[in-house]
Amino acid sequence: MLKPNITVWDETQGTIGPYPNGIYTAIADFLRESGEFGKIRTATLPEPEHGLTEDVLNDTDVLIWWGHCHHHLVDDTIVERVHQRVLNGMGLLILHSAHVAKIFSRLLGTDTGSLRWREAAELERVWTIEPSHPIAKGVPEHFSIPHSEMYGELFHIPTPDELIFISWYEGGEVFRSGCTFKRGLGRIFFFSPGHETFPIYYMPEVQKIITNGVHWAAPTHRPSITSGHTPEFVHKVK
Ligand code: ZN
Repeated sequence: MLKPNITVWDETQGTIGPYPNGIYTAIADFLRESGEFGKIRTATLPEPEHGLTEDVLNDTDVLIWWGHCHHHLVDDTIVERVHQRVLNGMGLLILHSAHVAKIFSRLLGTDTGSLRWREAAELERVWTIEPSHPIAKGVPEHFSIPHSEMYGELFHIPTPDELIFISWYEGGEVFRSGCTFKRGLGRIFFFSPGHETFPIYYMPEVQKIITNGVHWAAPTHRPSITSGHTPEFVHKVK
């Protein structure tokens, strides 16, 4: 089977928190080092068409999206283009504060994607509650992130197709931190840990989950779809 091509998108270029070359570069680096994928590109908000041209998207099997403060600057034309690609089978990983990205709400049909949050360096314990799911392969039944930003319920999303991880915080809140959705032919995985001031994307458990998420979201084949008025059986009995 062909190795999936990945594009890692970020709203920011340059140093952020513990990431000297940006979060997108850190994510692209560990995916590249795994040797499990095909082309790994990065794309950012300041680039023309936010780096997400038709050519790039048509050659992307899984798009990873990290955004925080500049969701409103993402051009609606590009959101529409990404939306169509997902409906046609491209996988999408939505990370951390991209829970309010335009593309996430567009795909989910929800207005906000809002949640409860507290920016404090507190303990987060991630529990794997669907251990047989491909995204949980090799992930312990629980692991701790020593310093995290609290994301709590109520998280305004439609009921996920699958809930794989739940997080607990030392402040007492809980959160649906890893969940999946299907839209059209595309698979979507949301994973919440990843605040920009903490080195969370360097954690082996988090890298494992993202790597598994890319494999899970990658299209396995391109089905041909018949829709609209059909005057006779497509596969007529002879
Ligand atoms: Zn954050």
